[in-house]
Amino acid sequence: MSQFRQDPIVGRWVIVATERAAKPQEIVQQTRRESLQACPFCEGQEEETTAELLAVRPASTAADGPGWQVRVIPNKYPAVTSDGETARCGWGFQREVQGVGAHEVIVECPQHETNLARLPAAHVADVLRAYRDRFKHHKRDQRIAYALLFKNYGALAGASMEHCHSQILATPIVPELIGEELAGSWEFHQRNNRCVYCALVEEELDGGARVVVQTANYAVLCPFASRFPFEMWLVPLRHQEHFDDERDDDFAELAEVLTTVLGRLAAVLNDPAYNFYLHTSPLHAGATPHYHWHLEIFPRLAQLAGFEHGGGMFINPIPPEDAAALLRP
Ligand code: AMP
Ligand code: ZN
Ligand code: ZN
Repeated sequence: MSQFRQDPIVGRWVIVATERAAKPQEIVQQTRRESLQACPFCEGQEEETTAELLAVRPASTAADGPGWQVRVIPNKYPAVTSDGETARCGWGFQREVQGVGAHEVIVECPQHETNLARLPAAHVADVLRAYRDRFKHHKRDQRIAYALLFKNYGALAGASMEHCHSQILATPIVPELIGEELAGSWEFHQRNNRCVYCALVEEELDGGARVVVQTANYAVLCPFASRFPFEMWLVPLRHQEHFDDERDDDFAELAEVLTTVLGRLAAVLNDPAYNFYLHTSPLHAGATPHYHWHLEIFPRLAQLAGFEHGGGMFINPIPPEDAAALLRP
């Protein structure tokens, strides 16, 4: 029989529908390789992009020239812009805020590699450090409430560029899903005097059925109320609130964990499209004993349909216990 399962943080219900009996093999998809036209993100094409905001490159090389390892550039087609004020206005009950913020692209390697999973972990550590450094940068801007780091990999995940990249969209408004998690975790903390993520990780590591990888400082789980087949959450084991508090020494292990699970995803499901995004405490929130940063990984294996859009409730045909068993290295 199928089950309704509830996410303990935001209270969202999902239907784990084993009757629909999609076998993992049926979910495996073919990814298309787009033709390799001149790619503006490749090393040597720097003049095709906006001027870099940050780069991992030897001091002997010049900005906006070759020789870099990781490059952060303003998005050429930004959803928000850096000039302006964030005073709220609106029409009657309907509120409006100017489109102020920052929209950046992190180009994650110089060569035309597409999937972060295929980059060496030591290189991915530099990529993660660049994410952290951009968070630190945006934290200095009082107009910016939240910086959301996300990756689109593959056309089905919304990617328009093939070359390995992520984006940061920094906004004066905390996005709704993070707001829901903050509210849900705050309520849990009021009732239980604990961080719900710390509690959840402890419980999951005890049980083990939904654990994909565990290292000294991180775990990757298929969450109990997974919305999608093979959904994974990467969570620090220690209570950590702000991603920008991560220290340089943390990134080697974190990169190893991330490349391991993304590599498993590619191996088990034939290189599917996926998104990942980082949920962390709002930049100016200060201490948030109820909230704990984590990275959510969503393979894009099925389109959302009417029930998901209409009700915000998801039907997942692969129990997370089965997904974790397949993904475990
Ligand atoms: P995605 O759509 O996830 O593949 O992200 C790629 C992003 O790169 C898009 O949001 C584009 O607006 C942006 N982009 C495309 N070409 C350039 C370029 N030459 N310089 C800077 N950003 C670009
Ligand atoms: Zn390229
Ligand atoms: Zn915690």
